[in-house]
Amino acid sequence: MPRAYNFSPGPAMLPESVLRQAQATMLEYGDAGASILEISHRGADFLAVAHQAEADLRTLLAIPDEYAVLFTSGGATTVQALLPLNFAAPGQPCDYVVSGHWGKTALKQAAPCADARIAASSEAGGFRDVPPREQWRLSPDAAYVHVTANETIHGVEWRDIPAAGNAPLVADFSSSIASGPLDVTQFGVVYAGAQKNLGPVGITVVIVRRDLLERAGQPRAPVLDYRAQAQAESMLNTPPSWNWYVLGLTVKWMLEEGGVAEFARRNARKAALLYDAIDASGGFYRNEVVPAARSRMNVPFFLHDPALDARFLAEAKQAGLVALKGHRVLGGMRASLYNAMPEAGVQALVEFMHGFRNAHG
Ligand code: PMP
Repeated sequence: MPRAYNFSPGPAMLPESVLRQAQATMLEYGDAGASILEISHRGADFLAVAHQAEADLRTLLAIPDEYAVLFTSGGATTVQALLPLNFAAPGQPCDYVVSGHWGKTALKQAAPCADARIAASSEAGGFRDVPPREQWRLSPDAAYVHVTANETIHGVEWRDIPAAGNAPLVADFSSSIASGPLDVTQFGVVYAGAQKNLGPVGITVVIVRRDLLERAGQPRAPVLDYRAQAQAESMLNTPPSWNWYVLGLTVKWMLEEGGVAEFARRNARKAALLYDAIDASGGFYRNEVVPAARSRMNVPFFLHDPALDARFLAEAKQAGLVALKGHRVLGGMRASLYNAMPEAGVQALVEFMHGFRNAHG
């Protein structure tokens, strides 16, 4: 089977040119006499890779100098567990605005080490919208306010994340980072697992305003300490060097393609194609998220008759469209349309959906 259009939520489709470069350097990296997988993270070759990746990410996302950029392992989930340890004093409340499964996860990961509070939640409505700012009940002395920029499972995305007041906003951008312009200065912390828009699984980007690194937080081992990691340039211990390298290739590809403004245009077109097809299907397909909060990255949708789900997936696969099965929390289907998914892939999906409806509607 040739490479399909891969709608996986993550690990997700990567640009073919990135995979080919990674393939070429797998055996020999430059004149190192070894694979990039085999060289020291403290040697000149890898340090150049690491520094270039950070510089390119800073350019791509317009990250100012007053923010440190950390490259960590353990995924976004580990960041969620470390947020209160690094940024909240013992007993200090941490506020969570919950707009879907991943907001709940962030709260759950923080809870053992924090007074983690739900400031607002859209769960009662089935996570079909974001909780509007006027419903947020913030703690006056909160260490931070956590939001999920894009809910990967529920397909709910903030268009504009409101300001939180005095406490810094901490935002999980795992599934929408670099999908469009981002004003980093609105946030105290922005974090994202790489395996959707930034490259391979196994590395996570944590962008932290440097003054927050001075917070005492709670007792923790040095390896869990973001200040220590920033001082050590994310090399307090051996970093996931291969993942860092492929992330760098992916970031460079995004810059060459025109940067986040160009991806915002492409992603708006791709999402409109799919939502329009769903909405024009006369109820054969449906997406239940309120239009103003529909994600441009992850589009969950349901067939009017779930008995057709297995057939839909099997025929889609035959048509070269893979990984459309919805998350077990919601069922149905989900198409993830990250930056590496070309518009032609979404067109092919929409045509397939049209044909499937004609055959089974
Ligand atoms: N936050 C969001 C928005 C996610 O989509 C995911 C993973 N899909 C996570 C957090 C958790 O990431 P990881 O599995 O890399 O820890």
